[in-house]
Amino acid sequence: MTSTLPSGLSARPSSAESLPLPVSLRIRQRLEEAGVPFLANDNIADILREGELDQLEIEVAGKVRELLRSLVIDIDNDHNTEGTAERVARMYLHEVFKGRYHPQPKIASFPNVKKLDEIYTVGPITVRSACSHHLVPILGTCWIGIKPGDRVIGLSKFSRVADWVFSRPHIQEEAVIILADEIERLCAPQGLAILVKAQHYCMKWRGVKEPQTSMVNSVVRGDFRHDPSLKQEFFELVKQQESLLIR
Ligand SMILES: [Zn+2]
Repeated sequence: MTSTLPSGLSARPSSAESLPLPVSLRIRQRLEEAGVPFLANDNIADILREGELDQLEIEVAGKVRELLRSLVIDIDNDHNTEGTAERVARMYLHEVFKGRYHPQPKIASFPNVKKLDEIYTVGPITVRSACSHHLVPILGTCWIGIKPGDRVIGLSKFSRVADWVFSRPHIQEEAVIILADEIERLCAPQGLAILVKAQHYCMKWRGVKEPQTSMVNSVVRGDFRHDPSLKQEFFELVKQQESLLIR
């Protein structure tokens, strides 16, 4: 079969070839070459180069603009959606999904010089996330129980690391495991317990529209896992702390 293209056209480089790759594709290529996973709840800060987050913000804003156009919203004339694309891009990259693009906050650990080995609990820590399935909010509270090991971190640092871990698209079951991994990396406790209770807006706002349903899950590691009385003590302490809350 003969080509129907005008002669010479196929030899010319296409305009797509001469354009630089979108920044998201360049980042993606590096991630694939390095074998680094980039699932919704992975952090990719290490692979980002200087200035790329700003370029990504521009690219994402353009895509959100296209999304709004595809939703048949007259963004050229609607005063309410003026700047929405830029706001949404900023919100995703620097606020609600910052745990994907920004490095972990600096958290110093200190030697446990007094060899403290009594358990303590920290909470409630507010956690905010979004479900990976619908990208709508998950809002809840988190409790952390620690039996210290050789190193300790400040109490406020648990809030910081929880915020960083949860600020990604997630499913709650995996968020708790990732948070446990990060805390173990930071201070290697002898025992670690985490309890999260959260409401999922994909159940409240849409779908079955259950306004009160929450999901509770936990992870227990080390001594909390091996010693049922310690695990019991953790849940008792959480219950006591919860009863002290002002409602
Ligand atoms: Zn969902």
